[in-house]
Order: sequence, then C-alpha cells, then structure tokens
Amino acid sequence: MSDPGFVTRFAPSPTGPLHLGHAFSALTAFDAARRRHGRFLLRIEDIDSVRCRPVFETAIAEDLAWLGLAWEAPVRRQSEHLEDYSTALASLHERGLTYRCFKTRREVLDDIGRAPHAAVEAFTGGPLSAAAEARRLGGGEAYAWRLSMAAALGELGHASLLTFFEEGEGPGGETGRVAAQPGRFGDVILARKGLGVAYHLAVVVDDALQGVTHVIRGSDLFEATNVQCLIQALLGLPTPTYRHHRMLTDACGRRLSKRDGAASLRELRAGGATPAKVRAELGIDLPSAGLGIRTKPSVGAARGQ
Ligand code: GLU
Repeated sequence: MSDPGFVTRFAPSPTGPLHLGHAFSALTAFDAARRRHGRFLLRIEDIDSVRCRPVFETAIAEDLAWLGLAWEAPVRRQSEHLEDYSTALASLHERGLTYRCFKTRREVLDDIGRAPHAAVEAFTGGPLSAAAEARRLGGGEAYAWRLSMAAALGELGHASLLTFFEEGEGPGGETGRVAAQPGRFGDVILARKGLGVAYHLAVVVDDALQGVTHVIRGSDLFEATNVQCLIQALLGLPTPTYRHHRMLTDACGRRLSKRDGAASLRELRAGGATPAKVRAELGIDLPSAGLGIRTKPSVGAARGQ
C-alpha cells in the first residue's frame, strides 16, 4: 500500500543530457520512495526558456525509464505554471517585501565586491526612488524582483528563527535540526529579468503544490535550503524534510558536470553499460570500477542569483 505521507521528487532542468550524478540523485529519491511505499514525482524545471530544450526533456524521460524508474503522470513542467508563481509573488509584493532591481550582473558583482565582509554573494540594495524607477520603466528597461531580506525578516519577527530537518548531510556535516540563516544571502532574486520567476520561488511553490514531504537532492543545494525555508514561512507553506546526498566526483575529484565532460548516461549506455552496472557503480559502499567515479561531499553554493 502506498504511504501518502512520503512524497519525493526528482527535479532536473532540461539543459543537457543526464550524467551519473543525475542518475545517483534520481535513484536515491526513487529508492527512498519505494522503501517507504511512497510517491515519486518527476518535475521538469524549465523556466529558463533560453537554456532549456524539449529535446533534453525527452532524453531525460528515456534515460530515467531505462534506469528502471517510474513516476506519476502528469509530469509537472514549470513553464506551464507561471501563473502559480505570479500569484505567490503578488502576495509578497502586496506586503511590501519585494522591489524591482534594474542592475546588471556586473553592477551587482561590483556592489558586492565593495561590501567589506561579503562571505557569500549577498546583494542588498533596495528600491530606486519612485521617479528614477518610473524613468527606467518608461525606457522599457528589464528588471528582476528581489526579496527585501530586511523587510522579510522584520515581518516574521520571532518566527524568522527558522529551522529545517536534515535527514542527510550538508557539505559541512550539518544534520538533524538545522537553523536556517537566510539573512546571509541578502536580497535574493525571486523573479529573473524577463522570466517572471526564479529558482527559489518556483521550487518552493511547486514542492508545496505537489505535496512533497521529502526533498532529496544533492548537497550542492543544501545552502539554498536557507532561502527556501524563509520563502515557505513568508508564503505560509509547509517546510518539507530535507535529505541532501553527497555529490559524485570524477577521478580528479571534480564534481561531475557536463562542462567538465562527464559522460552522459546515453554515452555509457552506447558503450555497453546496463542499469545494473550503473546501480553497482553508484552503490554507496561499492568500490568504484570501470566508470572512474568516487564519491565525496562537495562545497555547496546558493542558486538563483
Ligand atoms: N532543478 C534543480 C537542478 O537541476 C534542482 C532543484 C531541486 O532539487 O531543488 O539542479
């Protein structure tokens, strides 16, 4: 019998072919759902219409099916639910928790560079004057929506002492009840220029709408949880349990990535790999053989900037 109390998901962005790192993540979530007789969902995170391609989405489904995964239909595709994100954003606008940011990436980096103790990429700005904003809007300039971190923490008051439960491990060994520290991330972007939404907001809204109880994903996203917990609190949404898993690295210790030439599942398959071999290769305690993979935690970084 299925346990409706356990719902997890694999949420790839269709920007390229899946490699073993993705297989590890997808299989970890799928196996967890199977062990708990829970539900496993596939979500396509395709808000970035420039980088995402339908052809990669098709390939993702084929690769996952080849691995032996099965997921519920219909698959949620973020690009089909922009309305949900604007509704969430509107509730933050109405409470004065957001502002338009016209800065270019270069300008943001320059501003951060000038901040004396910036440990993470934390930009803090604030709205332009009404006149300056009207001028730039009149000129048709694109803008992002940022969360005013000070206003958000102010609104939550004591409730801003947020925590989440980590069943896995963060890159610094964080586990169990973890205190979220969203303030470190500054005025995060909620909607990217021209897109109407950004990663953190879309993930939080989707996890809630899909009833996800357990977020199982790589520890590269551990830091993002700080911000996502805050957005959940602001929107009155539940905080799921998190299980961050270690990241796979290649023989040189580099995190597997398309950029660094990690072999895609498709290439491995063409080279004779079987799902059983992939599983064995990814086994937690199994020594690595054949595909040149070992596992270790990696340093996390927040996304969405
Ligand atoms: N779409 C994100 C990625 O491909 C994953 C988001 C998440 O699991 O929260 O890295």
